[in-house]
Amino acid sequence: MRLAVIPGDGIGPELVDSALEVLAATSTIEGFPVDVFHEPGGAEHFVRTGEPLGADGLDRLREADAILKGPVGLPHVRRPDGTEGGLLGGVLRRGLDTFANVRPVRLLPGVQGPTRHAPEEIDYVVVRENTEGLYLSRGAGVATPAAASDQLMITREGTRRVVAFAFELARQRARTRREPARVTCVDKSNVLRSYALFRAVFEEAAADYTDVETDFLYADAAAHELVARPGRFDVLVMENFLGDVLSDLGAATAGGLGMCGSANIGAEYAYFEPIHGSAPGIAGQDRANPVSQIVSVAMMLSHLGMDDAAARVQGAVESAFRDGAVTLDDAGSPAAGTRATTRAIVQRLDAE
Ligand code: ATP
Ligand code: MG
Repeated sequence: MRLAVIPGDGIGPELVDSALEVLAATSTIEGFPVDVFHEPGGAEHFVRTGEPLGADGLDRLREADAILKGPVGLPHVRRPDGTEGGLLGGVLRRGLDTFANVRPVRLLPGVQGPTRHAPEEIDYVVVRENTEGLYLSRGAGVATPAAASDQLMITREGTRRVVAFAFELARQRARTRREPARVTCVDKSNVLRSYALFRAVFEEAAADYTDVETDFLYADAAAHELVARPGRFDVLVMENFLGDVLSDLGAATAGGLGMCGSANIGAEYAYFEPIHGSAPGIAGQDRANPVSQIVSVAMMLSHLGMDDAAARVQGAVESAFRDGAVTLDDAGSPAAGTRATTRAIVQRLDAE
C-alpha cells in the first residue's frame, strides 16, 4: 500500500506518528507492506508558501492508494479576509470530490460519557455532505463592516449522491446490527427553502430503499435527541454545516472529540482524519488522545477492503478501554499520555 500522510498542524504530527506506529505493527502481523510518503500541508505550510498545499500536492495525493490526514489549521494564521489560511478541507474536498464525510459516533465500553447512556445506545453514523451547503459560501454574499451574509447552496445532484450514500451505508450496517436499517434526515426545512430541497430529494431517494426505515428531524430537535435519546439513531444525513456542528455534539457524548475519526469519501478518492481540529493548546505535551487518528486508520483499512486488519485495529482500541489500560481525564486527554496510550493499543494488536 502506498500511503500519503499529511501530518498537519498542532497535535497533528504526534497523532499521525501514533497512527503510523499502529499501522506498521498491523502490517507486520497481517503481512501487507506499507510505503509511506509525507505530503506537507496546513497552516505552517501556508505561512511558508502562501498556500495550504503544494502546487503538485493534489496530483501526488491522487496517485496514492490511501490518504491519512492529521488535523490542520492554526487560529492565528489568517488570510486578509479574516478566514483561516491553513485549512485544507476546501482544497481536498473539492480537489478529490469527496462528497460524503462519514463520522461514526460510538461510546466504547469502558469510556465514561457525560450522559448516562449504555454503550450500545450510542452507536450511529453522521453522514455530512461535504462539498456544498453553507460552507460553499466563501466569497458569496456580502461583507461590509455593518452587515455580512453568506449563501447556503443545496443542489439536487449534490443531495442525491450523499443521500444515496447514507442509504447504502444503512443497508451495510444492517447486516451486522440487530435492528432494522434507518436513515434520519436532519434539516431545517420548515424555515429555509434550501433545506426544503434537501428533504424533498431525500424523500425521492427513500422510495428506492423501501427496506430502510426513514425518519425526519429539524436540526434543533436532532440536537436534543442526540443527547436525550441517542439510541433511536442509526445513520443520519445532513447538510455540511449542520453535520459539522451535530457531529461535535455527538462526539461529546462518546467521550470527546479525541475518540472520533472520520472518512471523506468520493467516487474515486478518499481520505481519513480525526473530526477535531489541531488543538494547538495541548500540542507537543503528550496530552492528545490519539484514538481519533487510530480509528481513522481502521476506517481507511476497511475502505480498502482490508477488513481483518481494520477489525484488528478497532479491536485493539476497544480492548485497551475495556480492560482499563486507557482512561480519559475530564478534558478528554488520556491519563497515561499519547505515547503510552499508543503502546497499549499496539500491544493489544497481537491478541485481536
Ligand atoms: P477546528 O476549527 O479546526 O475544528 P476547534 O476550534 O474546533 O478547531 P479543536 O482543535 O477541535 O478546536 O479542539 C477543541 C477542544 O478539544 C480543545 O480544548 C482541544 O484541546 C480538545 N481536543 C481536540 N482534539 C483532542 C484530542 N485528540 N485529544 C484531547 N483533546 C482534544
Ligand atoms: Mg471544530
